[in-house]
Amino acid sequence: MNDRTPEQPADTVARLRATFRTGRTKPVEWRTDQLDRLREMLTTHGADLAAALHADLGKSSTEAYRTEIDFTVREIDHTLSHLGTWLRPESAPVPPHLGDDATAWTQYDPLGVVLVIAPWNYPAQLLLTPMIGALAAGNAVVVKPSELAPATSAVLARLLPQYLDTDAVAVVEGGIPETTALLAERFDHIFYTGNGVVGRIVMRAAAEHLTPVTLELGGKSPVFVDRDADLAVVADRLARGKFLNAGQTCVAPDYVLTDPETGRALETELARAVSSLYGPEPETSGEYGRIVNERHFDRLSGLLDSGRVVTGGGSDRTAKYIAPTVLADVDPESPVMREEIFGPILPIVTVPGLDEAIDFINDRDKPLALYVFTASGTTRQRIAAETSSGGLGYGLPLAHLTVSDLPFGGVGESGMGNYHGRYSIETFSHRKAVLEKPLSV
Ligand code: NAD
Repeated sequence: MNDRTPEQPADTVARLRATFRTGRTKPVEWRTDQLDRLREMLTTHGADLAAALHADLGKSSTEAYRTEIDFTVREIDHTLSHLGTWLRPESAPVPPHLGDDATAWTQYDPLGVVLVIAPWNYPAQLLLTPMIGALAAGNAVVVKPSELAPATSAVLARLLPQYLDTDAVAVVEGGIPETTALLAERFDHIFYTGNGVVGRIVMRAAAEHLTPVTLELGGKSPVFVDRDADLAVVADRLARGKFLNAGQTCVAPDYVLTDPETGRALETELARAVSSLYGPEPETSGEYGRIVNERHFDRLSGLLDSGRVVTGGGSDRTAKYIAPTVLADVDPESPVMREEIFGPILPIVTVPGLDEAIDFINDRDKPLALYVFTASGTTRQRIAAETSSGGLGYGLPLAHLTVSDLPFGGVGESGMGNYHGRYSIETFSHRKAVLEKPLSV
């Protein structure tokens, strides 16, 4: 290929499809070899990626390794150690009318050429983790990093072809025109992470080819804090989960629902927790990230006066800095409650009690995650039974997505389909039904 004339999307897909049809990506040895190489890329060039993540989002090196690089390495290791088991055919009981000698089973077939479209907030993890599943399932894959994290996109576009089989893995950089051109092609699966507006564009384009989609979307993930919870622990865990990556995390706690008295006590604890995490001046803390761009900075700045500022409230456009902010006395109809915040602003909304909290949640879109802090088993059970969300976390936000044996995905407006670990194999494979009846009589 000539480096100076970029390959057209149609040619990229045709080239990868030709490779897939040779059968090269199907043997488990090819799959594990690709994962080994990806692992080597991450361990050799972790510092390059961490520097890019710092340039794009001000991520500290600790955070870059923990939430992107090491996270992805762990997913590779988990996949490598279980892939053989996951891929095993599964036998199914045969009904008597087919006779004693008939057998039936399911087996996983790779789908073909799949497309992974990634967002900017965890621009490495959210590109590479689906790709691990796609490769482990034996597919050829086109990956499209987010143009809004240009440094990370450039590093991935440079490194991935150095390590992976370029006849089966292609990186296409770019924004809307490039993604639109890709979406015109026929893929065997499209895996999209990002917002629901673009999710609909992806699904419409996929429908033209009857291509199945996984949509990993977002929305407002609520937190319910019960009056019996230990508020110092709640505040520490909430602050950590909320202000990681300056709040730009799809499963970040979006807002707190609690009764007025607990809310007042929680305000004090949250102010303390933020200060103990980032010090009295978070803008000087090397551990606190920045907003991805001016557009999101302006959007978030406009939400800062949606309530009484408990802590934070400051901002600096030049540095794309927004202080970790907690707002109280927030009206459920205020701007901060009308859209996914996706930034470091935590509103506290008060409700009389559990019944009203459940109604509040059910009156809105099904969230990607729901977090509950309570000492009561009955409350935990009621929330599990009476609400619907992609994931549910008792006592700890975000952590469910680090459990590789749990499916990660949304429901309703927060998405469709899921992945991680063996669920990625389900997503990127066809489960083929096979029946065998011997020819002998
Ligand atoms: P983004 O702007 O980077 O867009 C995501 C991808 O869509 C990019 O690759 C982009 O190039 C592409 N894209 C943008 N506009 C397009 C168009 N008109 N046509 C085709 N492709 C287009 O990221 P974003 O959407 O701002 O990401 C933030 C959202 O993603 C939030 O809602 C967040 O909750 C959600 N999110 C979900 C998860 C999850 O795992 N469920 C993870 C991260 C983010």
